[in-house]
Amino acid sequence: MQRRDLLKFISVAPLVGGAVGSKLTASPAKTQAYGAAGRDLFKEFGIRTFINGRGTITAMSGSLMHDEVLDAIKATSRNFCMIDELQDKVGAKIAELCHSESAVVTSGAFSALTLGLAGVLTGTDEQKVRQLPHLEGTGMKSEVICQRRHDIAYNHAFLNTGCKIVMIDTAEELRNAINEKTALLFFLNINADRGQIGHEEWLKIAQEHNVPTLIDMAADVPPVENLWRFNDMGFDLVCVSGGKAMRGPQSAGLLLGRKRFIDGARLSMFPRGFNVGRGMKVNKEEIFGMYIALEKFINEDHDKVWRSWESRTAVVADQVKRVDGVTTEVTVPELGNVTPNLHISWDAAKIPVNGNELAERLRNGSPSIEIVGGRENKVWLTVWMMQEGEEKIVAKRIHEELTKARVS
Ligand SMILES: *Cc1c(COP(=O)(O)O)cnc(C)c1O
Repeated sequence: MQRRDLLKFISVAPLVGGAVGSKLTASPAKTQAYGAAGRDLFKEFGIRTFINGRGTITAMSGSLMHDEVLDAIKATSRNFCMIDELQDKVGAKIAELCHSESAVVTSGAFSALTLGLAGVLTGTDEQKVRQLPHLEGTGMKSEVICQRRHDIAYNHAFLNTGCKIVMIDTAEELRNAINEKTALLFFLNINADRGQIGHEEWLKIAQEHNVPTLIDMAADVPPVENLWRFNDMGFDLVCVSGGKAMRGPQSAGLLLGRKRFIDGARLSMFPRGFNVGRGMKVNKEEIFGMYIALEKFINEDHDKVWRSWESRTAVVADQVKRVDGVTTEVTVPELGNVTPNLHISWDAAKIPVNGNELAERLRNGSPSIEIVGGRENKVWLTVWMMQEGEEKIVAKRIHEELTKARVS
């Protein structure tokens, strides 16, 4: 073999021959200098990290992705693929798992709300997709109906399509509010117990008037069954966060439901750019990462996970209760973020510190810990988003701070 031929051979097949192959890889020093491996980027930038005792809070960066999700992200980052083919195929599998006609990975539950409504408004009419968010004179519908008790900040997602939101309280008001401009009846699962109209009645009235329905259940797994419950119940569109309990990418979520609406929603999404949703991008790594998180979540032994949350909660409760004057109670919310919450309260005469002051001391300690304070003599926390073993550190630190604050 001539030298030139040898070089050509090496550049085509760099992995052939151990010694030759290893000489062709980038030097470790270079990888070290330019990569993130071995570097503490939080430290480099002076960014505080903390033990999270508050749950999945967006401002606190949500959740920590499972290792399997990170593996999927890394493994799929090395190849190109066509986004539409990926969304079709991953979407079909997600739809099957969640009992929906169709599904698409969005950049979170918020974008699923906007895109779901966009799909309802436009269907697969590209001209209409281009017209959003300017609905006037287009023949498109323009109103979303919402129970006043279901009105939260995220409803702004609907305004992005150009629709306005009509608020009602009673079933009679709902029937009267439905008109030829009504695009969607919106239901917020986390507030299901606060509105006057429940799931079944909401669906019944919608079906009587032939108006599509959408449910926001962003924070409503666990229980895992909720992933299919609302599709089975008859909601036309279901929106879920990927970066909360499922611990998928923080910038991913699911839009599940009727094929005709999701086909429409896809036109308002990337990779197309003539629409309102182009900025709500999720690339292939996050789409696969979301899928792996969903699959893992569905296959998880949820009873075992629950028992682990309970015993880790008990670790904190048992230790802090040893301080004289401290009592604890565990509650579980019925809707949304359904995990054990530990409430710790104390006799203010014995321990003159309020919840905010205690939370502040934990925040400023080492390691920094985030829990929920307040003006009264109590705090609450959840071990849900703590990493294994961190509950012991939290137990020790709270015990320490309450002991220090005691009047002797
Ligand atoms: C978190 C949340 C959202 C937003 O979800 P993202 O996945 O962060 O976009 C919407 N609605 C409710 C009720 C939520 O709790």
